[in-house]
Amino acid sequence: MAEAAYQICVNAECKATYDVGEVLFACRKCGSLLDVAYDFSRVRLPRRLSDFELRWSKRKDPLNLSGVWRFRELIPFAKKRDIVTIGEGQTLLIEARESLAKYVGLEPGRFFLQYEGLNPSGSFKDNGMTGALTHARMVGAKSAICASTGNTASSLALFAAASGALRAIVFIGKGKIAHGKLAQILDHGAKTLQIEGDFDDAMQKVQEVATDPRYYLVNSLNPFRLEGQKAIMFRILESLGWRIPRWIVLPGGNLGNTSAFGKAFQELYELGLIRRKPHLAAINSTGANTFYQIAEKKGIKWNKGKVDEVAIKRYYQHMDERGIRAKTIASAIEINRPVNLIKALRSLEWTRGLVRQVPDEEIFDAKAQVGKGGLGCEPASAAAVAGVRRLRREGIIGEKDLTVALITGHLLKDLDATVGYHTTPKSELPEVFAGFKVKRARFQNRPIPVANDLEAILRALKK
Ligand SMILES: *Cc1c(COP(=O)(O)O)cnc(C)c1O
Ligand SMILES: [Zn+2]
Repeated sequence: MAEAAYQICVNAECKATYDVGEVLFACRKCGSLLDVAYDFSRVRLPRRLSDFELRWSKRKDPLNLSGVWRFRELIPFAKKRDIVTIGEGQTLLIEARESLAKYVGLEPGRFFLQYEGLNPSGSFKDNGMTGALTHARMVGAKSAICASTGNTASSLALFAAASGALRAIVFIGKGKIAHGKLAQILDHGAKTLQIEGDFDDAMQKVQEVATDPRYYLVNSLNPFRLEGQKAIMFRILESLGWRIPRWIVLPGGNLGNTSAFGKAFQELYELGLIRRKPHLAAINSTGANTFYQIAEKKGIKWNKGKVDEVAIKRYYQHMDERGIRAKTIASAIEINRPVNLIKALRSLEWTRGLVRQVPDEEIFDAKAQVGKGGLGCEPASAAAVAGVRRLRREGIIGEKDLTVALITGHLLKDLDATVGYHTTPKSELPEVFAGFKVKRARFQNRPIPVANDLEAILRALKK
């Protein structure tokens, strides 16, 4: 299968191509992002998408058990023996409870949650990590390295520990890091360097270290990660009996998912395996809204691969001059300069998609509603649900539109934020917790203080 794959520069004026065995994270000629591309005429594709379901009956084969490699003909860059898999992507599409559908304004039965918190490391990142580490094995790397404030690093640490395929090295800054994620990094035995500096310093240094090919970089620039993430969309379609939803709504951080999902649907469409594409809606936090500003306010478009890079640079300069820095409780999307911006603009064009922003209060409230509806998520994931609610209010999503929100990470990843939301007395709001000021908390569930006395307890139960 591997012979069908190559790498190609996304810039329409360059389009340089590279072998799939090269380790590059930008085009050598022009510096743009790279795609993994395929000559699908050399791949033996199933006739219908539903043929993939047959693999379930053969899931003793780890490649069939994997929610990513079950779809290997749609991600054909690796030989089977190079694939690094630990059973990632066995996740569920769950119909939202009626209360949650009502909260966002959709008719019951029209709203679904794709629960990626069920992955081995508790976030969708495992879908991408299997892709990146497979490529790392193809090129003979011994160590994989990343700078991360969270889920990429926990995913790398767990994958390295579970597969034994290579060594994990993680750079973290001195700034905040959600304890659920730090706990995973440490417990799974990743070599962890805490750089004297912030996250951006750590990112800078990791890229310098990764110029040595023995250190394989798994940060968001890595196009092989995005190939694995495409499988999330294949699983959504599969769970819907190959119906195409009208909307797929997801949080936007470094925009890896936004890029990967658009590519997944474009490829299926061009292969004639689907007849219609869903619209993608990427949701920023108001406190970290670079994508919203660029795509919606400045109106910068993919423009068939001729993106107005000067206008983007001008916006970044404006951010620097004004001291605009990402700040949101949703730490997984607290990003100033999303690395996959260009590809994400392309996804918007391919799917006639859009970007919205939601304030942290709405993210928190949506998160509590997701929790009450029987699923747990971390703050960044709830941005997608808050985004659905916004788009319903704007009338862009109709009440009968089949809509899927991507739940990217598990509740237990970030506990300070959740406990803070539920326990801060209303009289003390607005209050700063987990480093963020929250003005209101509509769906608090505060513990009731009570004396260690049966009478008092029974009285409290009746209230
Ligand atoms: C990484 C991450 C995101 C952001 O995804 P991008 O692909 O970078 O836009 C959102 N939610 C969670 C939980 C994450 O770990
Ligand atoms: Zn190029």
